[in-house]
Amino acid sequence: MANKVYIEAQNTLPVYDECDILVVGGGAAGHSAAIAAARAGAKNIILMERYGYMGGDVTGGYVIMVPKLSWYGKSFVRGIQEEWFTRLSPIPNAVLGPDLSKIGKDDDYALIGIWSRIHGCVSESEPKRLVRAVYYEPNQLKIEMDKMLLEHRDAIRVLCHSWGTKPIMEGNEVKGVIFESKEGRQAIFAKTVIDATGDGDIFRQTGAPFSTLADGKTRSSTTALVWRIGGVNYDLFFEWQKANPKEFAALRENLAKVAGFTCAPLPSAQNDICWVNNWHPNRDCAKIKDATETEMNTRNTMRDVLKYLQEVCPLAFRNSFIYDIAPQLGTRGSCRLKGEYIMTANDFAFAARHDDVIAWHSTICMINDCAPVEIPYRALLPQKVENLLAPGRHLSADNVAIDWLNLIPQCVGTGQAAGVAAAVASMDGVNVRNVDIRKVQEILIDQDVPLPRNERVDKSYTEVCEEYEYGLYTELARKAKADATGLKEYRQSSIPDPNKDAAH
Ligand SMILES: Cc1cc2nc3c(=O)[nH]c(=O)nc-3n(C[C@H](O)[C@H](O)[C@H](O)COP(=O)(O)OP(=O)(O)OC[C@H]3O[C@@H](n4cnc5c(N)ncnc54)[C@H](O)[C@@H]3O)c2cc1C
Repeated sequence: MANKVYIEAQNTLPVYDECDILVVGGGAAGHSAAIAAARAGAKNIILMERYGYMGGDVTGGYVIMVPKLSWYGKSFVRGIQEEWFTRLSPIPNAVLGPDLSKIGKDDDYALIGIWSRIHGCVSESEPKRLVRAVYYEPNQLKIEMDKMLLEHRDAIRVLCHSWGTKPIMEGNEVKGVIFESKEGRQAIFAKTVIDATGDGDIFRQTGAPFSTLADGKTRSSTTALVWRIGGVNYDLFFEWQKANPKEFAALRENLAKVAGFTCAPLPSAQNDICWVNNWHPNRDCAKIKDATETEMNTRNTMRDVLKYLQEVCPLAFRNSFIYDIAPQLGTRGSCRLKGEYIMTANDFAFAARHDDVIAWHSTICMINDCAPVEIPYRALLPQKVENLLAPGRHLSADNVAIDWLNLIPQCVGTGQAAGVAAAVASMDGVNVRNVDIRKVQEILIDQDVPLPRNERVDKSYTEVCEEYEYGLYTELARKAKADATGLKEYRQSSIPDPNKDAAH
């Protein structure tokens, strides 16, 4: 059937609506974009989502852990990301993680001991210190994301169950999007389109350059179907890990034999629930076959994985059961933008500084000890095409850097920046390529996003970076620096296997 085609008849479509900013995809990036645009003053925004709820991976995919929001004593990732947790914290069992007031602490051994039970809450590097890393309950976040949108109902119109299928183009300018729903095929015109579908569903049809994820070694080229186990005692599981280091070291390998792919039980916001993350290698989440096989193969092995855990660690899993299965596929990566700037390992190894910085993010990258890295606006801006931005997990980064940049904080942060940029462009009557980036940065700072080299941002952020040399002097980075004399390129071969012991 490969060469067989069907020529669709020309069609007249109803125009459903018109707006200033159309966000396609309501995940971490798209939801943040719509909220940030409204808060920046935009009044005519549409947020389109193919499912019936917001969040994408962070709610429907049951990805329930936000890592590395801080570095040493400073919390670099704030804005809408930290707002999620401020809003959820009064709700019982909705969030779990070291308190903001305690981060960076390296002398409270009792507290460090308590938090070392929970993956990511204590630094990997010495001296061991508390890290702002937060586990949350996805259903509570789903409710909260709706509430955030409802607070801006004067500015944002939400369309659920609407699937953006095609950009409307005039030359190299995006003018809107065609979408499908139970009401049929319709058009929406927009001055700016924010493609936040995660897989470049819109930008890959515009003529903007993009790449597909071909490197099977990367975490981003794995798919997942997350599920949760109830009736667990995670504290006892941790005790078992300490008492049985050999068995624990072999657990992943043994689970991989049982399941046929890597999987791992991880903590959640509640002691009696754990989530089972998994990694199906060499899969493209935008391919029908890969998506279908991931879902069906994972479900097919869940009972066996549970049985194995009950046998190997009855202490913690004796009363456990399949609690629930994520309603949607875990999508880590597919198409990625080749934007005006392509982020690479060099950004991390050499702490690249960008005048158009829109987010300052600590990441899970070990080559710089998870130090903050600057994300430039150009990493969301396509080449060749106008009126379009692409925040979230499909932003412009190479095969290596994407594994450190498609995490939740970076998706929220780039989404927030895209929303502000689209609002400023709309209010100033320019397109997003020519937006006044200084204005965008100032509004982001008003929205609680710390940015480097800005007088209005607490100097202690920069001081921390300088004191610890932007993480450049970790063993790996020192090697990178040595390698780089004359080369100016970080040696990709010296990067540790990103899938080894991964939790994300
Ligand atoms: C199993 C797994 C574990 C992970 N672990 C971690 C972790 O521990 N910590 C961490 O920080 N990150 C983790 N990540 C990565 C992180 O969760 C994602 O990269 C991030 O949430 C992606 O956000 P996004 O908004 O860019 O994309 P998505 O969450 O994919 O959101 C895209 C949204 O757009 C909608 N959409 C897609 N196409 C269309 C369309 N054509 N029309 C309309 N709507 C559309 C989708 O339904 C979705 O709501 C993990 C990812 C997976 C899959």
